[in-house]
Amino acid sequence: MADFVGAIDQGTTSTRFMIFDHGGNVRGLHQLEHEQILPRAGWVEHNPTEIWERTRAVIETALYRAGLHAADLAAVGITNQRETTLVWDRHTGRPYHNAIVWQDTRTDRIAAALDRDGRGDVVRRKAGLPPATYFSGGKIQWILENVDGVREAAEDGTAVFGNIDAWLLWNLTGGRDGGVHVTDPTNASRTMLMDLETLDWDDELLSFFGIPRAMLPEIRPSSAPDPYGLTRAGGPFHGEIPLSGILGDQQAATVGQVCFAPGEAKNTYGTGNFLLLNTGEDLVRSKSGLLTTVCYQFGEAKPVYALEGSIAVTGSAVQWLRDQLGIISGAAESESLARQVDDNGGVYFVPAFSGLFAPYWRSDARGAIVGLSRYNTNAHIARATLEAICYQTRDVVEAMRQDSGVTLDVLRVDGGVTANELCMQLQADILGVPVSRPVVAETTALGAAYAAGLATGFWATTEELRQNWNEDRRWSPEWDDERRAAGYAEWKKAVTRTLDWVD
Ligand code: ADP
Repeated sequence: MADFVGAIDQGTTSTRFMIFDHGGNVRGLHQLEHEQILPRAGWVEHNPTEIWERTRAVIETALYRAGLHAADLAAVGITNQRETTLVWDRHTGRPYHNAIVWQDTRTDRIAAALDRDGRGDVVRRKAGLPPATYFSGGKIQWILENVDGVREAAEDGTAVFGNIDAWLLWNLTGGRDGGVHVTDPTNASRTMLMDLETLDWDDELLSFFGIPRAMLPEIRPSSAPDPYGLTRAGGPFHGEIPLSGILGDQQAATVGQVCFAPGEAKNTYGTGNFLLLNTGEDLVRSKSGLLTTVCYQFGEAKPVYALEGSIAVTGSAVQWLRDQLGIISGAAESESLARQVDDNGGVYFVPAFSGLFAPYWRSDARGAIVGLSRYNTNAHIARATLEAICYQTRDVVEAMRQDSGVTLDVLRVDGGVTANELCMQLQADILGVPVSRPVVAETTALGAAYAAGLATGFWATTEELRQNWNEDRRWSPEWDDERRAAGYAEWKKAVTRTLDWVD
């Protein structure tokens, strides 16, 4: 009897394999980091071969440590860092170039050019996205234009594109020996190449980037009763298991947080922050700087859409305190250092390292620490960093209210930063809304497991999944309205100081 479902969670900094039981409890886990390759200012790459090796290793180790085998798994799902782009040779399995990571800004000229003629508005209307370096389309164009031989190979179907989900699926199902080349609508909705209404690649959008259709994966539902393929017996599972779920990481966390009803939202705090609001079968077009995206498509059911506020730098600002400033020795120390002071001492930190994403979308912004006086210490900087995570979230929540009219009565949170109790208290204070963290904080992997397990009948309905969600901790607002309003006004002023910094 297969009592478990597996999920591969291939993130920006690390890769996990997690094994869940029917109650959504973690039965096994292994995780490995991979290298962040930073060849120039603004460029961020990953080695796809290293990612595939890490993926194999975490699967084998997690299964071994849990004492489980392929036969114990009813299905496997994949969730992945979205937008990160690679092109590989389907005959040899070799990547043509390192994967270009979502944070990478080398395509700023390509993105800016879209808004100099009418193309940007077509991208907004059809793909639901503002032209930005963030999304895959420009990254594919860059590879086609800058790597020798790729364009010809793409025209004849030898060079194929995928986000990391497609890369792992292709390798798990046999690679050059018959691997399937498939993605799901949540990943495809981050490329600027898919029409949100048809859920198919769009020829006009493809023409904007000069991308041949032959290189693109087939788009299949996020939860596929007819599985994408089986894992190969010769691969890391040492057996054949249906691969039946794919969700981009933020959509997976939304599913893992059981936000299945319109108006339900979650915020994930990792390298960046990503707030997704389920808008049901309605495609809500943002007027306030949010993205319209596919939340999930389960089997033959109609797709469910979401409004998303993506923030590029949150947890990675904490890493910056550790690695670049050296004022803390580990991420958790950001909390003890910030607790040495009662407030931010007038300091605001806007970590616009790669420009500002939602709701501003300003690639010309760069980071700033403002309001400094001689009185300030490292502790104020640490506190301002945690507050920046929360104020950026407030910006997105305000935009979401304008677009959808939905006022949150609670914010469901997950991700690495939610281990920081002070940060979560500040979030409740700055939003004026309670913040709730579930027992299973690994919602991204859980969501991928849910998509895979729903497809094979391991779980029957989304209602059944709701029973698995339990609150671990809740933070209630403590600031009065006056303090909240004053702090937010100062934050907005700090943001204006970061704009128009680069040409
Ligand atoms: P991702 O999936 O994006 O790699 P995770 O959910 O694993 O991210 O979270 C990692 C991020 O969380 C890192 O950027 C790290 O700096 C931050 N982080 C982890 N623990 C803490 C903490 N106690 N306080 C603040 N930030 C933290």
